[in-house]
Amino acid sequence: MLDKVVIANRGEIALRILRACHELGIKTVAVHSTVDVDLMHVRLADESVCIGPPPAAQSYLNIPAVLSAAEVTDAVAIHPGYGFLSENADFAERVEKSGFIFIGPRAETIRLMGDKLSAIKAMQEAGIPCVPGSGKPLGEDMAENVRMAREIGYPIIIKASGGGGGRGMRVVHGEASLKTAIVLTKQEALAAFNNDAVYMEKFLEHPRHIEFQVLADHYGNCVHLGERDCSMQRRHQKIIEESPAPGIDAETRERMGRRCVEACQAIGYRGAGTFEFLYENGQFYFIEMNTRLQVEHPVTELVTGIDIVREQLLVAAGEKLSVTQDDIVMRGHAIECRINAEEARTFRPSPGKITMFHVPGGPGIRMDSHLYDGYTVPPYYDSLVAKLIAHGGTRPIALARMATALNEILVEGIDTNVPLHRELINDAAFAVGGTDIHYLERKLSLE
Ligand code: ADP
Repeated sequence: MLDKVVIANRGEIALRILRACHELGIKTVAVHSTVDVDLMHVRLADESVCIGPPPAAQSYLNIPAVLSAAEVTDAVAIHPGYGFLSENADFAERVEKSGFIFIGPRAETIRLMGDKLSAIKAMQEAGIPCVPGSGKPLGEDMAENVRMAREIGYPIIIKASGGGGGRGMRVVHGEASLKTAIVLTKQEALAAFNNDAVYMEKFLEHPRHIEFQVLADHYGNCVHLGERDCSMQRRHQKIIEESPAPGIDAETRERMGRRCVEACQAIGYRGAGTFEFLYENGQFYFIEMNTRLQVEHPVTELVTGIDIVREQLLVAAGEKLSVTQDDIVMRGHAIECRINAEEARTFRPSPGKITMFHVPGGPGIRMDSHLYDGYTVPPYYDSLVAKLIAHGGTRPIALARMATALNEILVEGIDTNVPLHRELINDAAFAVGGTDIHYLERKLSLE
């Protein structure tokens, strides 16, 4: 087993990783910025190293600082969590070149899937359904671009191949605005991602976001853990996730899951990963692969009973996956609410000191949070402060448990989006299930 792991992250996910390490008898090193010395996982870790001032660019994104923390503490591996350096292929490469284990896929896999066009090409070759599109960078020949757009059919979307975080995209409704959209997206892509390659694909108007979780080891073994529906979003940020996705039957799950497994085997994937799809009119369309642990992994853990972080650590240690596809059974339904330190109506960030924190309980309730009484949420980072997850034998039971837990939870001293979650969990359309990715923004704009 791994002897000592550096947790190159903060907040709830750093605590989640620390717990999994401790269960396996792995020693932990917390690396943190000066403002994060009071984080719960820093207190609980075997060792901690301050790696820089509060701005992430100088601490959590500071590759030499993270590597030297691993060196001085004699760690053997680095877990990047999500966000920060987790999908940085150069980081993964430098970790391994420095003699440490990167807890994630190979750098070349991160690179392949990090570029949207190379990812689409690899996925098409592996038999994964993609959005109809150009499949290659758009050239200077505008007549050719017009022809392609007509063939795909408007509306289309122009996307930067190097884009991420919901940036570098532009929807085009007709030929009149095609040329300008291509030119502008190219300029933005060059400035933001240092790569001006843009491509076009069909713009789906009312899709749901459905994604498949996979796990792979170094020996070609790979399993899928079913799907999650993450359609409840605002500005491309997920706020509620659930598993299984309403209306997806066992046969469809098995067919799509198997394709994802085959795609992993085709690209030599290792570790935990997620295939993200838009789903419309019964069809799946691949949009991207996340080559890391995801915020919403707990809903999958609750329905499958598999500890995804534990599997990541075992795989990194060179062990085989502890389960085969036949062992994986999805039981019941799980829902996660992302609790953010922000005002529930204006979405204005709300850092500050927690004066009272009460964690809900009862059957099927899990809370992943680094908060405690007296902790101060700093203003420098992502506003996610807790994930409340409810599991039940059926979706209505999971919803009822979530509603009960949302009434019990207390986070005082800062504003949170708990009031919004209370409203959404009682929303009539959400109760039916299967709302599209624009549902939340439509609902908010009507209020
Ligand atoms: P990023 O890497 O920036 O997150 P994605 O390709 O994952 O980019 O797309 C982000 C979001 O943009 C999707 O979740 C979806 O809401 C929207 N989107 C992307 N491509 C399309 C498309 N072809 N049709 C409709 N919406 C799209």
